[in-house]
Amino acid sequence: MPIKLSDAVYTNLLEKNFDKALSLRNRYSFINANIFPLLSKEEQELLLEFEENCIKLQKDVNRDDVYTIAPKLGEKRMLQRMNPYDGIEGSSKHQMLLNIAVNGMAPEVDFAMTASSILVGNSLFHNPKRTDVQQKALEEIWDGTAIGGIGITEMQNGSDAVNMKTQATIHDDKSFTYNGIKIYTTNGAVADYYSTYGVTDISNPRRTMMLGLFKRGDEGLKAERLRIPAAPGIGIAKVTYDNVTVPADRMIAEPGEGYRRLFRGLTPERIAITSGSLAGEWHTLATGAIFSQIRYQFGKPLLKYQGISHVLSDLYAHIAAYTAFAFQVADFYDKKVGKKIHQGEKPNPMDEGTVAILAAQAKYLAAKYSLHAAYEVVQTMGGRGAINEPGSQNMINRGENVARLMEVLGGHRNIQLMIIEAGLKATTMMSIDRFVKKARKNEEKTNAKVIELYIQRAEKMLTEDAEFLSENTKNQLNEALTRLKTAIETKHKVDLKAYSSALPKILNSAGKEAYQARKAQKS
Ligand SMILES: Cc1cc2nc3c(=O)[nH]c(=O)nc-3n(C[C@H](O)[C@H](O)[C@H](O)COP(=O)(O)OP(=O)(O)OC[C@H]3O[C@@H](n4cnc5c(N)ncnc54)[C@H](O)[C@@H]3O)c2cc1C
Repeated sequence: MPIKLSDAVYTNLLEKNFDKALSLRNRYSFINANIFPLLSKEEQELLLEFEENCIKLQKDVNRDDVYTIAPKLGEKRMLQRMNPYDGIEGSSKHQMLLNIAVNGMAPEVDFAMTASSILVGNSLFHNPKRTDVQQKALEEIWDGTAIGGIGITEMQNGSDAVNMKTQATIHDDKSFTYNGIKIYTTNGAVADYYSTYGVTDISNPRRTMMLGLFKRGDEGLKAERLRIPAAPGIGIAKVTYDNVTVPADRMIAEPGEGYRRLFRGLTPERIAITSGSLAGEWHTLATGAIFSQIRYQFGKPLLKYQGISHVLSDLYAHIAAYTAFAFQVADFYDKKVGKKIHQGEKPNPMDEGTVAILAAQAKYLAAKYSLHAAYEVVQTMGGRGAINEPGSQNMINRGENVARLMEVLGGHRNIQLMIIEAGLKATTMMSIDRFVKKARKNEEKTNAKVIELYIQRAEKMLTEDAEFLSENTKNQLNEALTRLKTAIETKHKVDLKAYSSALPKILNSAGKEAYQARKAQKS
């Protein structure tokens, strides 16, 4: 009879030499050697400052409850650096440096704090007319004394979040009530504040989407934790709003403005997810580069074998290229959009459109690559890639877990590709618009000719093969013909499409019917 698994004792496997070599300081050292050439002196110093703080704080991280570290990070103004706060300038590039430091300390902390300080923080910061309660929430979140969760996704509406169903009702005194369920709210299980989208008319979400601030303890608000194995220390939740009524000063964005705010928030959110993904990739690569030079098999360090070194070199080239691109996107966002928002001005819609596409490209590449990179490095480490020992500097397994979440957040892969596709169209339209129109006209002419041929064939069949067709088939042909001709005359696009695709099918089965009837007559 085996003993119960819960009675089995754990041991530690990783040798001290490996563990020490994989220290946070050593991983930072590898990353700095690669990233410093892309940074100004001031940015290099900032990264070093973040890293030193993380080295000191690492011992305080609780992997089973990532929130305990929030006030300490807040004290050092290390919960976000994208937006200006407490006399410190805001910069997406600085945010990327922050992610690199924090992710190495604990990838789960990086994930949860980005959701609180960037996703919820931005939603409050982007409101130039923040009420006192909203300003208080923002400060508490950025100080790390409170945690925020953003509510967009619903059970029926994930990628299609715009068509959300959470019903918002605004009362005469401008207080408002929410009814609906949000799912996957990161930090939702422990959040003090919820920044949540709703619509006053579900049939017209674009015009009526709003954003409201809710607090833990609001009557009717219930948060239930979800079991997400890849993120054991993070409280991701289903949040139910059952007739939750809150005062007018909780309105972050009025109906209609909420829709613009959602999209204005998604670009920096994607930049932050890009930087979280890249931060994970750099620590993953650092782990592989260090480990493969220490682990010996067949008398040589693993890095001496091309089967290992080429895998790592391929990752290295991709991660370096993605990082350079991401820094460029961050700079563009800061100069053209972020700065305007920080000054309470409206950014130029062309610039917002451009950076939305750039951010989608960066997020698509970086998020997709993060799991690939983690998986590949785990493989280069053999069995030591699978272990996850408390207090160990070998975080590859935890990094791999978090990496598998990066693509789904902030718009899944295909949603990024849809935005990128819009970029393909938008950036060619100016130069090739007239050729596109001509091609469309040519296609329409060809289609018209084909339809004309089908009409002639149908008319011929109705006269020449009438005796071989059933009444039902003749009726169907006549009906399709009449409707199609009317659609052509009246330029009714829907009917034209429907009957020009129906007629060939009816003709096809009518042809078979006539052939069978002729054959039967001959025999
Ligand atoms: C760990 C985690 C944390 C999260 N945190 C938050 C949070 O804090 N707040 C929040 O609001 N949400 C959050 N989300 C939700 C996340 O944003 C959604 O899961 C995501 O938008 C996808 O929605 P869905 O899960 O309903 O998938 P679906 O929309 O059902 O998509 C399933 C698949 O279909 C594809 N797909 C969908 N539509 C199309 C299309 N038109 N063409 C081609 N392919 C398509 C998708 O790319 C995906 O591959 C989180 C999710 C996870 C897993």
